[in-house]
Amino acid sequence: MVKELGRTGVFLPEVGIGTWDYHAGPGPLRRGLQAGAAFIDTAESYGTEGVVGEALKGLRERVFVATKVSPENFRPARLQASVDASLRRLGIETLDLLQLHQPNPAIPIQETMDALASLVDAGKVRFVGVSNFAAAQLKAAQSALRKYPIVSNQVRYNLIDRTIEHGLLQYCQANHITVIAYSPLARGLHRLKDCDPGGILEQLSHGIGKSPAQIALNWCLCKEGVVVIPKGSSEEHILENCASSDWRLTSPQIDFLNGAIQYRHRGHFDALLRRLTPHSLRPVALRALQCLPRGLRRRVT
Ligand code: NAP
Repeated sequence: MVKELGRTGVFLPEVGIGTWDYHAGPGPLRRGLQAGAAFIDTAESYGTEGVVGEALKGLRERVFVATKVSPENFRPARLQASVDASLRRLGIETLDLLQLHQPNPAIPIQETMDALASLVDAGKVRFVGVSNFAAAQLKAAQSALRKYPIVSNQVRYNLIDRTIEHGLLQYCQANHITVIAYSPLARGLHRLKDCDPGGILEQLSHGIGKSPAQIALNWCLCKEGVVVIPKGSSEEHILENCASSDWRLTSPQIDFLNGAIQYRHRGHFDALLRRLTPHSLRPVALRALQCLPRGLRRRVT
């Protein structure tokens, strides 16, 4: 099944392929693209644009290619150079979607958006998206990019992290901004299972003949305007993930999952910490947060 990207008239497969921490070569990606997940996500910082380029050979015309520019490259000259380098590594002439990987408060958004608009004018980028932007940052970014719409926001969303349901999801839906859900399997099924003490995913899986991963992905897809980009390292995982499209959980099944699986909404402090800490220092900051006594941690997050 497909969903419209923003209000562009372009339809994306609702299950794409993520490539962060992907090391399995072009073969599995290629099989996934051929099987219908003709939407692939990478980033200049992942080191996977090259392997995506290899997987795309001979398939370019039917695949939607999304990449991301890192925040340290948001100044116009670096943005331009970064896009040229991504195009070169991917072996293509136009990026279907260029996303700002995360906000960079140190660089005025107007500068970045003017440079992005020039890249669209020049035909190097088809559509502009963002990633990890809060609603207020999205609004500011859209005001700065007057000529073109921001068509997507790539954010974490899965059965056990439903932070975006606190307003960002609704904002995106109301403004026709596609939500590209990253880590839709919570970065590994074991994490989902840890939050499912009653084994509901397994139960439902036996009941409806879909795997736990397919159920977790379909739960995201049941939301209006949400597409998913799970990362699989094997052909088996990628094809299994493709098959989470083309059907829908029923409302009672969704209620069953919502009632049984423990999930979190990240609090303001956690979100602020993520926003203010440079990417490289985040694991340290988050570990420090985990070291706070449980009661205090609950209050601040
Ligand atoms: P994810 O897709 O939620 O989970 C990946 C994990 O799930 C891997 O360990 C994978 O194992 C496993 N898996 C995949 N398919 C499976 C299946 N059918 N059954 C059982 N296990 C399965 O995590 P993610 O990589 O964090 O997120 C996906 C993509 O989102 C990334 O690759 C990246 O493109 C994007 N992303 C973006 C941001 C951002 O800041 N914009 C941040 C994080 C991620 P194998 O590898 O062994 O198959």
